[in-house]
Amino acid sequence: MEQSLLILDDDAAVASTIRIMAERMALSVEATDSAWAFFEALELRKPTHIALDLVMPRVDGVEVLLELARRGCKAPIIITSGAGSRVLDAARRASTENGLNVLGTLAKPFTFAKFKALMELDGRAGAAEPAPRGGGPSIAEGAVSTHDLEQAIAERQFSLAYQPKIRCADRKVFGFEALARWEHPTKGAIPPATFIPLAEANNLIGDLTDHVLDQALDWLASSFAASPLHLAINLSARSLDDIRLADRLAAAVDARGIDPGRIILELTETSAMVDPLTTLNLATRLRLKGFQLSIDDFGIGYSSLAQLARLPFSELKIDTSFVRPMAASEECRKIVRAMIGLGHSLGLRVTAEGVEDAPSLALLQDMNCDLAQGYHIGRPMTGLAVMAWMAGAFRDAAAQGTAGTFDETVSVAS
Ligand code: C2E
Ligand code: CA
Ligand code: CA
Repeated sequence: MEQSLLILDDDAAVASTIRIMAERMALSVEATDSAWAFFEALELRKPTHIALDLVMPRVDGVEVLLELARRGCKAPIIITSGAGSRVLDAARRASTENGLNVLGTLAKPFTFAKFKALMELDGRAGAAEPAPRGGGPSIAEGAVSTHDLEQAIAERQFSLAYQPKIRCADRKVFGFEALARWEHPTKGAIPPATFIPLAEANNLIGDLTDHVLDQALDWLASSFAASPLHLAINLSARSLDDIRLADRLAAAVDARGIDPGRIILELTETSAMVDPLTTLNLATRLRLKGFQLSIDDFGIGYSSLAQLARLPFSELKIDTSFVRPMAASEECRKIVRAMIGLGHSLGLRVTAEGVEDAPSLALLQDMNCDLAQGYHIGRPMTGLAVMAWMAGAFRDAAAQGTAGTFDETVSVAS
């Protein structure tokens, strides 16, 4: 299909600059400074892309965005404006929340390189729909009962998906995060966002955690016994009440001959908030036993800084909500940079989670972020698929003459 761009901008010089840039990218272009002509062209020409000035003397750019949302417009939109980047960012978020597909914002003046980078995002950063979590189909919350969950735990209906983490500096594999998957025999794939809270609320999380731990450690021991690769495992609020967890974990790694330093236990802020003293005791015991501890989803919630100061973390994991829009949002870039600085100043390793495109990975590397995880690098996959993924990455790296050992492979070239 031919690509076409419809521009709404009251500044003729800016409109013609955008036109020249778009034509360089082989798009056909139509520009107008009137909202009426804009919506007429929208119906008539069905452009594949839209560039919209937010601040115009006679037209309210925000009204135009709302009308686009009302019409169910699916074309990727670039927002341009001389307004400050915070205002642009707020407009981007509002549009995304209204269901529009905003590629990003261009603060005037802008270069061709910036324009091209945005157009090439193709709607992934800041897109209205988040990319599917875990890749599988999901069903509505509430469709499974506590009884379903009890049965699933008894029948071991849970499996694990493993998502790679790479080092930003050389793109080599650092390890994996284990993510629980539930395939109900008749109801299909149930997302963790449904069953983890259900397990927590019904006192079933301990059993689920033990099940996940066993599977994850078995996989690590059988696939990567003599390897430095790390494995991250999520620990839930309720499991942290359980002071014996540290002993069970230590026995579990010991039985499989795994160095506890290869295991990273990821705590979310909410989980770190349950009974502060027990959590502190348990976290300290886990660290003394050699496990690594990560503060997950850092930056959302209320007490992240307090927890960071209080608990003996070894890793800070920046939440996806700051990382995913990075390429398009200057605000998010600044926040990510500050979080990396904060983590490093506390002597922590920093992981950025939710890396969905190459520009974001390059930015993170520039910012000295240690590790990256996200769909751009690899989706969560089965244990078997991990081996194929590693083999593929190893072949690519060998072809480029950059391969290390098999389990330290260059995985993402760009
Ligand atoms: P989390 O620990 O923050 O895990 C990362 C989530 O982000 C995963 O969702 C993963 O599939 C998704 N993700 C990874 N890369 C990207 C990306 O580039 N873009 C986007 N949009 N998403 C990405 P998942 O697997 O659905 O897990 C959701 C949450 O459920 C996890 O969030 C974690 O809090 C919880 N969870 C999963 N497995 C377990 C488990 O075994 N135990 C406990 N306690 N919680 C678990
Ligand atoms: Ca996690
Ligand atoms: Ca997370």
